[in-house]
This record gives sequence, structure tokens and C-alpha cells, in this order.
Amino acid sequence: MSSDAARARLVERLRERLDVDEAVLAAIGSVPRHEFVPDATVERAYADRPLPIGADQTISAPHMVALMADLIDVSEGDRVLEIGTGCGYHAAVVAELLGKSGAVYSVEYVAELAAAARRRLDRLGYDAVHVRVGDGRDGWSDHAPYDAAYLTCAAADGIPEAIVDQTRVGGRVVAPVGRRGRQELVRLVVRRHGTDRERHGGVRFVPMIDDEG
Ligand code: SAH
Repeated sequence: MSSDAARARLVERLRERLDVDEAVLAAIGSVPRHEFVPDATVERAYADRPLPIGADQTISAPHMVALMADLIDVSEGDRVLEIGTGCGYHAAVVAELLGKSGAVYSVEYVAELAAAARRRLDRLGYDAVHVRVGDGRDGWSDHAPYDAAYLTCAAADGIPEAIVDQTRVGGRVVAPVGRRGRQELVRLVVRRHGTDRERHGGVRFVPMIDDEG
């Protein structure tokens, strides 16, 4: 099957399975996931599964990317903070939702992953995604306040304060929170005093580096 056909079939499956905005499904339908995974796994690029991307990290399963992209509830022109660039796939999906006037600012701890993601995103024309190497627990204050933020690695002890501080009032923060085996997907809406918090079920993500080792 061609990658276009495989991707279209994946989108159909996600539409049946998830209650997410059509714009999110269109974004999944636009991003060539096979360009983001290692050559050895390219046959499985459109299975709804996480895949290894090196450095003990994984690209999240498409349904998880779709669900999180839906929960951050972004519009064209928004500025979004991502923690954990990985291969850059999730950032590319979000960039599709933001149009030319929006931007994703992504922080990646592992320098080699950041460099490879940067090259790949440039090659594929994702100019709206900006990558920096660093500890995502500090966020990226230069471009704050963000309309939304999300983590693609699990924060064992709760969403880091800097990330919430760098999100505007009314902005959304989505993150897997908790220790291995007991993580849940959390969505916060930032309020003038504190945050509103919703839970979106159990999940399995790689832990944030430095939290659990
Ligand atoms: N969104 C990615 C998924 C990457 S997996 C994709 O589409 O491929 C989680 C990523 O978070 C890994 O690349 C890992 O190196 C990164 N990470 C873990 N701890 C981090 C930290 N403290 N700061 C920034 N990035 C971190």
C-alpha cells in the first residue's frame, strides 16, 4: 500500500475511534509520519502504535497525538510550547493546525534528537516549528506567553511550574503526569488565580529525563 493510502486508512480508523475535531484528523492526514520514523520501522509508520526513535525514546501513537492535539484546542496564529521534540512528528501535526502565522516552540533534552528533528522539519518545510536543546522543565521563556503547552514525556511530580507560568490566562496545558505504570493525561486551563484541572484517563509515556532517571 502507498503511504498516502496507508495514512488515509489510519485517519479513517481514528475518526471511528476518537471524538476529535475534523481539523485534527486533517492534520494527521497531512503529515507524512513515514518521514519521521527510522528506516527500519517505515513499514509500520501508519500503524496506530508508538515506535522507537533512538536514544531510548519513542514517537507517540497517532491516536495519542490526535487526542492531545484536540485537547490543547488551538486556533490559527496561536503560539504553542512543546516539551519533548523527539522526532518532530507531534510538533508537525500541531503546526498544521496553526497555519503560517502560528508557531510551535519545542524543547528537547537530547541534543542528537533535536538536531535530527530540526533537519527533518526543515526538509519537510515545517518552518513554524522552532527547536531548542534544554531541560523542558524550564519551558522556553523567550516566547511566552503561550496559548497552549503540552508535554510528550511524563512529569512524575506534576506539571512543572515554569510551563504553567509561561501559558497565558485561558491557555491550556496538556501532559501525562505520574510515575511509570500510574500515569494519567491531565488537562489544565490556566486561570487568573490557579488552574482548572481535568483528567483524561490512564496513559503510558516515557518519563521525563531527570525525573525518574
Ligand atoms: N513528540 C515526540 C515524542 C517524543 S518522546 C515525537 O513526536 O516524536 C518524549 C521526548 O521527550 C523524547 O524525545 C525525550 O528525549 C524528551 N524529553 C524527556 N525529558 C525531557 C526534558 N526534561 N526536557 C525536554 N525534553 C525531554
